[in-house]
Amino acid sequence: MDVFKHISVVLGDITTMDVDAIVNAAAPALLGGGGVDGAIHRAAGPGLLQECRKFGGCNHGEARITAGYNLKARHVIHTPGPIYRGGQFGESQILKNSYRNSMLLAKEHGFKSIAFPAISAGVYGYPKPEACQIAITTVVDFMKAQQFFIDVVFVLFDQENYQLYVDYLASLKAIPVQ
Ligand code: ADP
Repeated sequence: MDVFKHISVVLGDITTMDVDAIVNAAAPALLGGGGVDGAIHRAAGPGLLQECRKFGGCNHGEARITAGYNLKARHVIHTPGPIYRGGQFGESQILKNSYRNSMLLAKEHGFKSIAFPAISAGVYGYPKPEACQIAITTVVDFMKAQQFFIDVVFVLFDQENYQLYVDYLASLKAIPVQ
C-alpha cells in the first residue's frame, strides 16, 4: 500500500473542506479563540461552542471530537498543540501526540477522510519547518503502523507553509516505499 497516495496538500481555508473531520488547532479551554480556531467556530456556528463546553477543557496533545454543525465537515477534532518555548520542554512529543490522537479518533470512528491545519505553527510559535516534518511523519507512521489508510489533506493558509509541505512530501516520496 502506497501511503502517499492518500496524502495531499492544499493552500486554502480548512473551514471549507468536505471531509469526515477537520482538525482544530484549539486552545486548552476548547472555548474558541483566534486563528484557525476562531475561523472554525465562526463557520460552524454556536452549536459547536455549546458542545465543546461539556468537555471542561483538554490538555495539550490530547484530542476531543464534536459534530461539525454548519460546516461541510461532519465532525471537528479539537486538539491543543504545544506552545513552543525553545524546544526543550517536550514540544515535539506533544505535537506528535496531537496528530496521533486525532488520527486515533478518526480510526475509532471509521472515518475515510480528515483535514489538518498546521497545528502550533501560528500563535503557538512552533518553527514551521519542524512542525511540517512532525505533521507528515507522524501521520505517515500512524497509517503504516495501524494499516489504517484514509485520505489526509494538509490545509495550509499561507504560501510559505504550503511550499514547505509540498517540498517535504516530495522529499519523502523520493525514498522508495517499503
Ligand atoms: P496555534 O495556536 O496552534 O499556533 P493558529 O490558529 O494560530 O494555531 O495557527 C495554526 C495555523 O493555522 C497557522 O499556520 C495559521 O496560518 C493557520 N490558519 C489560520 N486560519 C486558517 C484557516 N481558516 N484554515 C487553515 N489554516 C488556518
